[in-house]
Amino acid sequence: MKKTILITGGAGFIGSHVVREFVRKYSDYHVVNLDALTYAGNLANLEDVEGCSNYTFVKGDITDAGHILEVFNQYRPTGVIHLAAESHVDRSINDPLRFVMTNVVGTVNLLNAAKEIWKDNFIGKRFHHVSTDEVYGTLGEEGLFTEYTAYDPHSPYSASKASSDHFVRAYHDTYGLPVVITNCSNNYGPNHFPEKLIPLCIHNILNSKSLPIYGDGKFTRDWLFVIDHARAIDMVFHGGKTGDSYNVGGFNEWKNIDLVNELCKQMDEKLGRPVGTSAKLITFVKDRPGHDLRYAIDASKINRELGYEPTVTFEEGLSKTIDWYLSNQKWLDQVTSGEYQNYYETQYKKT
Ligand code: NAD
Repeated sequence: MKKTILITGGAGFIGSHVVREFVRKYSDYHVVNLDALTYAGNLANLEDVEGCSNYTFVKGDITDAGHILEVFNQYRPTGVIHLAAESHVDRSINDPLRFVMTNVVGTVNLLNAAKEIWKDNFIGKRFHHVSTDEVYGTLGEEGLFTEYTAYDPHSPYSASKASSDHFVRAYHDTYGLPVVITNCSNNYGPNHFPEKLIPLCIHNILNSKSLPIYGDGKFTRDWLFVIDHARAIDMVFHGGKTGDSYNVGGFNEWKNIDLVNELCKQMDEKLGRPVGTSAKLITFVKDRPGHDLRYAIDASKINRELGYEPTVTFEEGLSKTIDWYLSNQKWLDQVTSGEYQNYYETQYKKT
């Protein structure tokens, strides 16, 4: 019998790459993708796996405890990879409660359902919670976040993710639920929703719109190509130690302004125009409240224990990302026009 793996948030940016990795690599798994299809969920991200016999999509909201339990009862997953979340910091500043509901309550609903159907027989089971380095707060010019860094979130988004991490750990310590957590740095790559920095800038350059940079542009983030994150999730899901956390990162720090300048240079080269053309669109805007200065990940544990290393350098990954957006302008147009939200109705509700 096939082993069923429930992946939540599989229609989103990272989730779609994780679903693809699992569907393609593990023909002996039945991959069930549970997603509410919020504004960030786009099933067109998964067109290429839609017909695969080991893949099922289920529309469902993790805040609905009753429905979640039904899904667990119906599919009896032995593994859960939980990515469904509200993920955009700016949106969390405008509507924190929504982040509490999805990221905290939704996670607890999933933990309860797993605990209920696994009925304390946890052999061969695993609940993998996908989280962020933002739970650790901010760094000064020096230092790196390790798995032992104290949590110190500053935005409603990172506070909700930190809370969800604590619940996941509490279910391990209290009920023995076999959990594992990954805390990853900023991802980039194909299918990234164009409200986030890199796809927003690509979209705006193509449309000659300004490139907004918060504050003085000195905010620093570690960037990882999304496919390398999906590989890390695969490795930790299969080989990570139960009850442990693993930091995932690229050892690849960029100040926002340097990143956007690199992006502008590559866009100019690819569009065949003088270097410097796109950079003229850079506009500094008022800083985001509670903005963390610097995030940087010490990813040595996952390397040491599981042999994980990113495969793509930032320059290569950025080039691949730009190429993907340039050859998938229909995807970008459908996302920016909102048309992608009809995809489920037209593809899945055909009679
Ligand atoms: P995303 O916003 O692109 O996708 C989130 C997905 O979750 C969407 O498909 C959405 O429809 C779904 N979803 C939202 N609310 C839901 C609900 N109530 N019920 C069911 N589904 C729901 O997010 P992403 O960038 O792909 O991030 C995925 C996960 O990885 C999140 O948990 C995020 O915190 C974490 N993470 C993201 C990054 C990053 O750089 N993007 C870095 C580290 C960790």
